[in-house]
Formats: sequence, C-alpha cells, structure tokens
Amino acid sequence: MTMTIARNSAKKMKAPKMKPPTAKPSKSSGPKRVFFFGNGKAEGMTAAPTEAQRKLILGGKGQGLADMTAAGLPVPPGFTISIPCCEEYYQLGRKLSQATKSQILESLAKVEKAMGKKLGDANDPLLVSVRSGAARSMPGMMETILNLGLNDKSVEGLAARTGNPRFAYDSYRRFIQMYSTTAMGLSKEPLEEMLHDLKHKIGVKTDPEIPAESLKELCDEFKAFYKTNKGAEFPQDPIEQLWGAVMAVFNSWEADKAVTYRRVEKISDLKGTGVNVQTMVYGNKGDKSGTGVCFTRDPNTGENVFYGDYLINAQGEDVVAGIRTPLKLSTLGDTLPKAYKELLAARKQLEKHYKDMQDLEFTVEDEKLYMLQCRSGKRSPAATFRIAVEMVKEGLITKEQAISRIVSEDIERLFYPVIDPSIDRKMLAAAKIATGIDAVPGAATGKVCFNAADAEALAAKGGKAILVRKETSPEDVGGMHAAQGILTATGGKTSHAAVVARGWGKCCIVGCDALRINYENGSMSVGDKTINDGDFLTLDGSTGEVFVGELPLKKPELPPSYYILMKWADGIRTLKVRTNADTPYDAENAIRMGAEGIGLTRTEHMFFDTEERRLAIQEMIVADNLDARKAALDKLLPFQREDFTGIFTAMAGKPVTIRLIDPPLHEFTPKDDAGFNKLSKITGISVEDIKHRCEQLHESNPMLGHRGCRLCITYPEILDMQVTAIIQAAIACARKKIKVLPEIMIPLTIAKKELAILTDRTRKVADELIKASKVKVAYMVGTMIEVPRAALIADKIAEVAEFFSFGTNDLTQMTMGLSRDDAGRFLPTYVASEKDGGVGVFKVDPFQSLDQEGVGALVKMGIQLGRQTNKNLKIGICGEHGGEAASVKFCHAVGMNYVSCSPYRVPIARLAAAQAVIADKAAKKK
Ligand code: PEP
Ligand code: MG
Repeated sequence: MTMTIARNSAKKMKAPKMKPPTAKPSKSSGPKRVFFFGNGKAEGMTAAPTEAQRKLILGGKGQGLADMTAAGLPVPPGFTISIPCCEEYYQLGRKLSQATKSQILESLAKVEKAMGKKLGDANDPLLVSVRSGAARSMPGMMETILNLGLNDKSVEGLAARTGNPRFAYDSYRRFIQMYSTTAMGLSKEPLEEMLHDLKHKIGVKTDPEIPAESLKELCDEFKAFYKTNKGAEFPQDPIEQLWGAVMAVFNSWEADKAVTYRRVEKISDLKGTGVNVQTMVYGNKGDKSGTGVCFTRDPNTGENVFYGDYLINAQGEDVVAGIRTPLKLSTLGDTLPKAYKELLAARKQLEKHYKDMQDLEFTVEDEKLYMLQCRSGKRSPAATFRIAVEMVKEGLITKEQAISRIVSEDIERLFYPVIDPSIDRKMLAAAKIATGIDAVPGAATGKVCFNAADAEALAAKGGKAILVRKETSPEDVGGMHAAQGILTATGGKTSHAAVVARGWGKCCIVGCDALRINYENGSMSVGDKTINDGDFLTLDGSTGEVFVGELPLKKPELPPSYYILMKWADGIRTLKVRTNADTPYDAENAIRMGAEGIGLTRTEHMFFDTEERRLAIQEMIVADNLDARKAALDKLLPFQREDFTGIFTAMAGKPVTIRLIDPPLHEFTPKDDAGFNKLSKITGISVEDIKHRCEQLHESNPMLGHRGCRLCITYPEILDMQVTAIIQAAIACARKKIKVLPEIMIPLTIAKKELAILTDRTRKVADELIKASKVKVAYMVGTMIEVPRAALIADKIAEVAEFFSFGTNDLTQMTMGLSRDDAGRFLPTYVASEKDGGVGVFKVDPFQSLDQEGVGALVKMGIQLGRQTNKNLKIGICGEHGGEAASVKFCHAVGMNYVSCSPYRVPIARLAAAQAVIADKAAKKK
C-alpha cells in the first residue's frame, strides 16, 4: 500500500526550478503495450476480448486496477507496462526497447495530466510506486519501489507542500534504500545498519521518533554509500529512476526466489510479470489517514462478513511487517466513517463484478479512500465451499459455476489433518529435515518404527507410529495400516506404499532420497541428523516435508456447504463413481464419500491380514501336489467368504467387482528364517525344500511374469476357491435378503482363448453353486484391460467378457515400458521443464494423470472395439487415474460407464465428472 499527494492545487504552482523532467510524450510504435488508467478510464479494458486473456497481458494487479478504475472506484492514476514488454525485455537480453520506452513516456504524460503534476517536480512532485504483477499472484516474490520521483530538490518541494519535512525525508530515505538495493543490487544490510546506528546515536528506539534533520543526514549517508559502491551519484533524474525501477521489477521475475516459487507452485505457463506504475497516495499523513488489507468475506470460514485489518497513520509495509498491531476492519466505521462507507460500497461492487471473494488493499489519505489492489482472495478449503454455495444462494453465480470453481486440491485439503497453521513458521523451518515425494496428502505425527511389526505393536498399545521403510511390500500392509503415516526412501506416486496408503487416505511420503536407513541399528540419518527408533517425526504428505518432533495437528471439519455442493454435482454428472476397497471398513468409508459401488477389490490384500491367512497362502504356494494345494486353499476359503460377505453387506446391493488373485506368488513367500521355520512346522516340508521352492519362484521380471490370470491358468484350483467364496458369500447374503451384485473380474488378460478358459470355469463353478442353493443370485464375469494387446484385440475379448475395467496402472507401465515401482527415480526429470532442470518430455507424471495421447489412445480403441462386438459391455477404470480429475474427464469423454478410485478420492471423481458435463454443455453452446 502506498500513499500520495493528490492535491489539485498543483496547477497554481510555479514552474519547477530544477531541470525539467524528461517525460515527453512521443509517438509510440508497434502494438499497444502500456495501458493508462485513471479518472474513470482504463485503456487495459480493451487489451483483449476476455477477462482471462486480459489477465495474461496486464497481470493480476494490472487487471484489477483497470477494472476498478473502469468501475468508477477511486484508483490513483497510473499505467500498466504489460507482460509482453517483460517477454520482449528478456528477448532483447534484458533491455527495454525504444517502442516500450516511448509508450511508457506517453502514459506517464497522461498520469501527469490527470494529476496536474510532473514526475519529480521540484515544487510539487508527482511521486509513483513501481510494482510487479504477474498473471498469478506470487506473494512477496518480486520487487516494489515506492516514492519514485524524489530527489534532492523534489524532497524539499514535498516537505514544503505537506508542511511535513519529516515525512518528506522519511519518504526519500525509503526510496534511496529501496532503489539502491532493488534496482541497483546493493546489499540491504549496510543501509539497515546505518539506520540502526543513527537511532542509537540520537537515542531513539523507533523509526517514527527520528526527526527530519537526522533523516536528511541519513539520506546523505545513503547517497554517499551509493556513490562509493556504484562509482556514480545517486540518480537525480526521475526518468532515469523510472527506467531503473522498471528493469528491477522485470529482473525480479528471474530472481532465485521467484523461480523457486514458480517451481514449487508448479507455475509453468506464465511468460513474465507486468509492472504497475501508480501515483503514490499516503496513509501516513496523520490521524485522518490510514492503510489496510481486507477480504470481502472471511477467508477462513467463508462467512459473508467484511474481514481485514488496518492501521491509522501508517504505510502499507507497516501492516505487512507486523511492526504495529493492526486494528479490526469493523472499527474503521468509527475512526474514518466516510472512507469506510466508500469501502463498503467498493466491496459490494467488486464482488458483483468478479463474482468471487476479493482481497483488497486500500489507503485513506486525509479521509479520502483510494483502492490500490483487488484480486481473487486466497481462502481455506472450508471457505472455498461456503463462498461458492452462498454465492449461488445470493444469485451471484450459478450452480454450474460454483461446481466448476472447485479444484481437486480443495477437496483433498478438506479431509486431511494439517499441521496446526498457527505454529510458528521459524520453528517449523528449523524442524524440517528432508523433502520427499508428496504421495498422499495430510499430516501425521508419531514415533518412528522401522518395521511393520513394531508399528502394529505400538498401535496396539494405543501409540502413534510413523512407519519408515526403504520401500514397502505387501507384507508391510498391517504395519502401514496401523501407522499414522508412512515414509519411504524410494518409490514414486504409484509405488506400493503410495497406492495402499492412498486407499486409506493415509499420509504418505515416498522417494525421500535423503534418508539413510539402517534397519540393524534401528536408526536413520538425514545429513548430519540421526533419528532413532521411537523418536518423534511429523510428516506433511501435502508437501512431502519431513519434520523432527511431534508437531500439533488439526483435523478439519467438513462444512455443510461441502455436502450441498456435492449433491449439486451428483445431480449433474452422468459417469458413475465407484471405489477401490478391500475390506468392509473401506467399503463403508467409501459409501460415506459417495461411492456407488466397488470397482476393484484386490483379493490378495486379504491374504496378508492375519498370520493364519499368511500361513495358509504360503502353504498353498509350497504345496508340491494338487491335493496339498487344495487342502491349503480349503483353509483360505472361509476367510475369503467371510470378507466377501462383509463387503456385500456393507455395499447393500451396490455392484461389487472382485478381482481374482493378481500378484506373482513370490510376494507371499516368507522372507526370513522364522518364517521358513514356521511354515515348515505346519506343512511338514523341510526348511531346505521350502527355501528351494521360494527360490524357484524368483523371476527376473515379475511384473511381466507368472501373475494375473496366468496364475489361474496354471493353478485353476485357486480360481475355484475364490469363485466359490464369492458365490457362497453372495448366496448367504441373498438368503438374508441382502441384495448382491458380484462382478468377478479376471486380471491381466492377453487373449480371447485365455479369458474364455477362465470365464467358462468361473461360470461353471458359480452356476453349480447357485443351482444347488436354489437361491437366485445374478453375477457377471469380465476382465481387466491392462496389457496393450488386450486393448488392441478388445473386439475379440469382449465376446467372452461382460465388462471391461481398464487397469491403467499396468496399462501405463506396459504401454510406456516404465516400471510403476521404479520410474519415480527418473520420471521427475521427464516431467520437470527445462527451466527447472528437467527435460519436459511429459507435462505430468503419466502414473498420476492418464497419458491421454498414448495410453488414452489404447483406452479409446479398447472401448470402441469392445462395444463393436458386445454393445452392452459395461466399461470402467480402476487404475489410480480413476481418482484424478483430468483423467476422470477423459473417461467421461470416451464413454465409460464408471470410474473407480480410492475412497478418499471418490468426491474428487464425483466433482470432476460433473465438471465434464458442464464443460460439454458449454462447448455445445459455443
Ligand atoms: C491396474 O493395473 O491399474 C490395477 C488396478 O491393478 P493393480 O494396481 O493391482 O496392478
Ligand atoms: Mg494391474
């Protein structure tokens, strides 16, 4: 926030004594790139036909200033040097072109005319602020210079005009300080030290206590420092100052902190920053002046109340820097009633115009209100929903607009616990030890456990565990479930840990390279820090940050507006949304999230649930003859039946897709001597033979090995057991009048004949059981499309399948030849842009957002071919992509019947499916 002298008495002033400013209007060349605003006119309004395009030219701040000016709000006159000028500046090797300079001077002349003052005039100077403004807000990342136009002469003019030499010299010293450091690259510290020493010398504690004379001396000291370090006098020509300031703002676009900010915020589509040069207004001219920041609604709760802070007799930086405690905006009506009334009117007008909550900056100078900024305000996830819903009720926006405004992150952030936002930032920074890949958002805190059993034991005693592993395997599932959060040194976003944790909505960080884990010592090191078993760690799965210690967490409550908006979305979408769930608990949770069925139950996860189950499956694996294998399977049957009964009951008639066994058998084998011994004891097979059998199962490339339906081709008795368990559970439920709709799904099919063998056998087992039970049970048999070959011959496969479910985790892996477990090591380089040190081959990780160009082409082909031979084919997706907004929209576009995703992503899919319909309608209208 800035302040100015906007006195119209300037016309009566005498001609300046010093060298006249060099702002001469010159005929500009080329397209219009600098846009004046002031006195109700804003040239930027015609910079482009749509609001979105104008923002890309003017930047957010420039657009806000233009809009507010055009709307008749009191905006100090100024001009916006557009983003294309910044692009050109870099193209020319950091130079301002003549055309740009001419246009700047033309606009400056307009401002001077509007104000009746000249930039840097010796008697009554026009002073300006020079500020950045990109198309997306990058708070604090770029530079600002205030009070430009002051020099040795004009400072005296300002002192005389205001009758306040202290104010004039304080403004001048601030300008010299900002210009020397920001525009000319001098170090900030020596100048700060000089200020500090001055206060010490004259015996005052705070800046406002420094008298004018001392400030004047300080200005001289600053200028001398400038001369020593730059070998020239501090620039006195206001136009030279202007060029320096504009270039400083452009340069700040490529400053380290701005580049890092864009990388962290994944901002890759912006071309540069705009520069806003605007008449200064002053909130520090006395008790009738002030400055503030406000939101048109409460950004934390979304409540429709005017919310903000202000300070009387202060400059903008004072509010931001927190030097003084600001006052609540609600009291402004008492202190500056006229300005407050105007501000209330501006609030209403701006919300009506933007149809969104705005973040405003204002200054009151001698009771007159000036608007300095308006932009869409940042808000909490709860406020996002409340504002959208209430704006519909107020008639400001439509339901469709409200739905289209919500992004996946708003929903995710609504559900997960967060590190208490009130925690001291410095303390947080000091506690941070590493950053990994943010696999599942939310925060978790607990004691470090380096193995799953310890995590389970700790949780059983009521403790909180953070499971830390080099990587996780299905054997760790129990510990993963028991832990509050999971941290792994390797893996990507679709690694085992990530997929499983996502299913539970459990905070998970993977690929945290910096961890050096030593299982034997029960410790890990990160740089020079050592963390031992039992020490506290806190994870922020939303950012991938790892902190030492137990940080306080907060669990957000779902606001009523969330349910209202999601109901609207459900009324609009045509795509069904199911969930991937392996237990009745997951199923019930998913129903609460709005799931309309289960699209994938991974039956093998059930084998790891208890030791009894693990031993039974291991017994089956080491069996060396059919009878022994069947005997082991008989032990598993009741467990599976019980699980399926639980799931069917929880789903109460909603469709449930159950996939037959999928992973390679070696994943189930014991891994240590204790395991070998135990298995030997119950099977009577020697430890030697068990080890031998386990070694035999070793494959060089297990993902392409003996897995998926290939297991049931060689061991059809596994299929018999699983289908029996499914159908017996269905019969038991049907007897209890619980509706059931099982869909038996065969994974990893590559040929029609292969699938026919398995579907025939499935139907035979199922039909015999149903016939014998005399109960009516309907079921379906279908397959997953996970291998490119299956998509390519989908017409043939569809002849023997009642449904397809695209397993896009494997389909991506196999189409791209990228291992879903290991690609995390190098994919970030493929995804990061050249600017950020990557190669920019992909825009996003194809395991997170479906590669629509490649894998998507196979999906499209599979759907089209499949429906050619089986027009009733039901089609869905159950890979991780089923819960990612862009992929869900793709699934809608290619005509799938449903998507299926982890329970916590169900609302994201519901919303994206509705947004897809809304976008369709809008496209048709066009
Ligand atoms: C898939 O491959 O997309 C799939 C859902 O199966 P899984 O992740 O279990 O291999
Ligand atoms: Mg798969």
